[in-house]
Amino acid sequence: MTAREPSRSEQLFDRARRILPGGVDSPVRAFGSVGGTPRFLASAHGAFVVDADGTELVDLVGSWGPALLGHAHPEVVDAVQRAAARALSFGAPTEGEVELAELIAERFARTGPDGVRLAPIERLRLVSTGTEATMTAIRLVRGATGRDLVIKFAGHYHGHSDGLLAEAGSGLATQALPGSAGVTAATASQTIVLPYNDLDAVRAAFAQHPDQIAGIIVESAGANMGVVAPVPGFTRALRDVCHEHGALLIVDEVLTGFRSGPAGYWGIEVDAGEGYLPDLVCFGKVIGGGLPVAAIGGRADLLELLAPLGPVYQAGTLSGNPVAVAAGLATLRLADDAAYARLAVAADAVATGVSAALTAEGVEHVVPRAGTLFSFAFRAELPRGYREVQDQRAERYPALFHAFLDHGVMPPPSVFEAWFVSASHDELAIGRILDAAPAAARAAASL
Ligand code: PMP
Repeated sequence: MTAREPSRSEQLFDRARRILPGGVDSPVRAFGSVGGTPRFLASAHGAFVVDADGTELVDLVGSWGPALLGHAHPEVVDAVQRAAARALSFGAPTEGEVELAELIAERFARTGPDGVRLAPIERLRLVSTGTEATMTAIRLVRGATGRDLVIKFAGHYHGHSDGLLAEAGSGLATQALPGSAGVTAATASQTIVLPYNDLDAVRAAFAQHPDQIAGIIVESAGANMGVVAPVPGFTRALRDVCHEHGALLIVDEVLTGFRSGPAGYWGIEVDAGEGYLPDLVCFGKVIGGGLPVAAIGGRADLLELLAPLGPVYQAGTLSGNPVAVAAGLATLRLADDAAYARLAVAADAVATGVSAALTAEGVEHVVPRAGTLFSFAFRAELPRGYREVQDQRAERYPALFHAFLDHGVMPPPSVFEAWFVSASHDELAIGRILDAAPAAARAAASL
């Protein structure tokens, strides 16, 4: 028997590991929790990615969120090319930044069933990554309150700044790194990690640390331990508890913003009669349309504590980069009602179709959802927090994943990630996913 010639991805992964730690620049890409060799990608269009061997795959990762419209939308690419031809970076203010900030503020507003209009984004600062956005939001709530402690929830991921790596979901959850080496005990001790959807635990923390808690940071809907939506009214109650105690609420919409619905998961809660005004909101992913843009928005009095107006320092050489801003602007402008309607149809079709295939094979599972975001958990009941997410037949996922991959479909390479469809997932793309689903479900059932 002759050995199989290694694929181009395998060759590249070997080469990559000799220079990039683990062969990747961000851990989940290494396929650590599903095994095998990550596909190196060469190009993408619409709902499809093409790997280094020329194999076309239906993409369910969507660059982990930004590819709301699908990959390489011609109008976005055109906007980027035109911006790049004008300048790659100025390090000076531009009209585009103002337009993007105005558009985010205008879109992230909602009138609830009670007729009250909520518009939380009074000011906004652009940064380059979600990590920067949440890190700055934390600094702002500390600066505003003069307090040190911050509450976060187990299984919620807010990027990799030290204080927020007290315990994390995505990546860390799958790779069994408890917190992270290199985070000092002193820094970690400034963070209180509580179970999600547990208001009593939040109240107890405030009682235990009177006048010491600056604020709470919460994902608008948990989407970094698989999808775990808040119980209705939970996030609004967090805001109320914060304000009772002179603390502030940071809602992290980096993943959900302009993705789980047109005004993020916050908008879904407003529509459901659970509306509230967060103090600060973090954005990322979709607002950059695939290039590095993120933002902190919220109350004017808080945002104006930032330098140059106020005492809270924050800066960035590439913040509001004109090419990245052009991608974000084009993406948000194209994200109209029709695009969100296509996204919803695709999410329903994939979630329902894969679920039906799993049921047909007798695989116990639930499909937690947060608007157009969904994931699969191999357990009987919807998880409400990190401990329940851990309590599932997670070992079924690698088999499901690889069977999909063998049939030309790329789901996220971990059971603890959300599935991302796009407005370009049309009948052809959905059909390919549903055609592959029975084999994937059989593989999951075989364990
Ligand atoms: N917050 C949330 C909710 C996220 O999902 C992520 C990234 N997945 C981040 C923050 C960090 O964003 P970035 O990777 O751009 O630093």
